[in-house]
Amino acid sequence: MAWFGRFVQVSNFKNSVLPTRPNHFLAPLSHFVSTAAAAGPALAAAAAEPDLAPTRPGEKPRVVVLGSGWAGCRLMKGLDTEAYDVVCVSPRNHMVFTPLLASTCVGTLEFRSVAEPIGRIQPAISTAPGSYFFLAKCTRVDPDNHSVYCETVTDGMDSLEPWKFKIAYDKLVVALGAEPSTFGIQGVNENAIFLREVHHAQEIRRKLLLNLMLSDVPGISEEEKRRLLHCVVVGGGPTGVEFSGELSDFIMKDVHQRYAHVKDYIRVTLIEANEILSSFDDRLRRYATKQLTKCGVHLVQGVVKDVKSRKIILSDGTEVPYGLLVWSTGVGPSPFVRSLQLPKSPGGRIGVDEWLRVPSVQDIFSIGDCSGFLDSTGKPVLPALAQVAERQGKYLAELLNSVAKAGGGRANSAEEIALGNPFVYKHLGSMATIGSFKALVDLRQSKEGKGLSMAGFTSWFIWRSAYLTRVVSWRNRFYVAINWFTTFVFGRDISRI
Ligand SMILES: Cc1cc2nc3c(=O)[nH]c(=O)nc-3n(C[C@H](O)[C@H](O)[C@H](O)COP(=O)(O)OP(=O)(O)OC[C@H]3O[C@@H](n4cnc5c(N)ncnc54)[C@H](O)[C@@H]3O)c2cc1C
Repeated sequence: MAWFGRFVQVSNFKNSVLPTRPNHFLAPLSHFVSTAAAAGPALAAAAAEPDLAPTRPGEKPRVVVLGSGWAGCRLMKGLDTEAYDVVCVSPRNHMVFTPLLASTCVGTLEFRSVAEPIGRIQPAISTAPGSYFFLAKCTRVDPDNHSVYCETVTDGMDSLEPWKFKIAYDKLVVALGAEPSTFGIQGVNENAIFLREVHHAQEIRRKLLLNLMLSDVPGISEEEKRRLLHCVVVGGGPTGVEFSGELSDFIMKDVHQRYAHVKDYIRVTLIEANEILSSFDDRLRRYATKQLTKCGVHLVQGVVKDVKSRKIILSDGTEVPYGLLVWSTGVGPSPFVRSLQLPKSPGGRIGVDEWLRVPSVQDIFSIGDCSGFLDSTGKPVLPALAQVAERQGKYLAELLNSVAKAGGGRANSAEEIALGNPFVYKHLGSMATIGSFKALVDLRQSKEGKGLSMAGFTSWFIWRSAYLTRVVSWRNRFYVAINWFTTFVFGRDISRI
């Protein structure tokens, strides 16, 4: 199988470079200096922030990437690591293949099938002497000194103080993504679960299985049983609809077989303020509404006013008790992005020009959900989609590679370099699965545009095939295919681990 392993590596990582050093532990540590240490032993004792110092002549210029999502990872994959060292800073060491995340909440797919380690996306990060991944979050950007300040993320291990450090960059790419919008509604953060990260999906699966088991305990009242087994999804966009579809599949197939005592109590309610799947064709929306209703999903048009620990309250006063509440009402810029002293696009994202540069500062670029075209470009802010983020990452990698080739890789050296064609986004269409082997495929470029739109089993097949080919590595492609197969043959895994 060795030939196969090599084939897989070559086909996935054709942009990457193999390690130039036989042992990366011999990597020069001169990249790391402490400002305090350089200033003398007395100051070193005071241990100020250690630095990843500015690159020197003879070293490769350094691209620092903030974030390991769709945008940051696609960028890192495409960067020429002969020309640049790559340093990624992110609180997670993997990329999440978000279109398949909803399937992991009910066990259709396993969590690892949708998580792609950074070192597999850009192997230079684990092997090249000057390239690193830091499990940390960025806390400050200092454009004047071409530096970012970071602190390690210790996952709630209270005993570990976060370690603070500073990284000098030649080029900085801000790809920090977005955060769920709560519209300031009280109790959402405390009581609802979002669906953006693998740990959210894990929390949803554990809660769902816990509620199923609790509701079977002797002596539990009818009312409490109904509450525990009421799954409420707020937000009728593609994520909310896909999750509701997955839940209804889980209920119809697995709960009916393996939790037969409580099968008549479990319900799914999808609450949306306007209409579900508003970006899709009218015909497809009607189809989705009919199909979801047929599969037992209760669609409610309403506005959530308040979220308590066991019930939500709608603006018309209706009280909706729940056992599981999943919040999926769209995204907006994170408080950190909002706090950055950089130009902003409408909506508070980091403002970029047509080449995805942040104007008024040198060598800073921004891509993905955290960025948007500035008003002055005359272009609209693009939707928060993986297809936007991925294509921006690819475009920017090519741009930075050509800048390096033209001799502009170092800090403050690219001002005179022609950047070539600006970034142009062409929407390829949208897809969403709605459960029961059905999906929607809308290939129109805009809501008013012409093009193919279809729904049903063929669309579901297209949806699955399209995403299977989009999964980043062959390893995860195998995982996904095998998970789908085992789920089909043996049902979903209901162990609460
Ligand atoms: C469940 C779900 C399903 C989706 N389905 C689809 C779909 O089918 N099609 C589609 O086109 N889009 C889909 N999307 C949207 C798509 O996932 C996003 O548009 C995409 O992830 C944006 O990529 P990004 O790189 O900008 O941000 P993200 O992928 O969110 O990545 C942001 C990164 O920044 C890191 N970060 C955050 N703060 C800091 C900090 N202070 N310092 C350092 N790093 C930080 C995060 O940890 C993360 O690694 C879906 C989203 C979800 C949640």
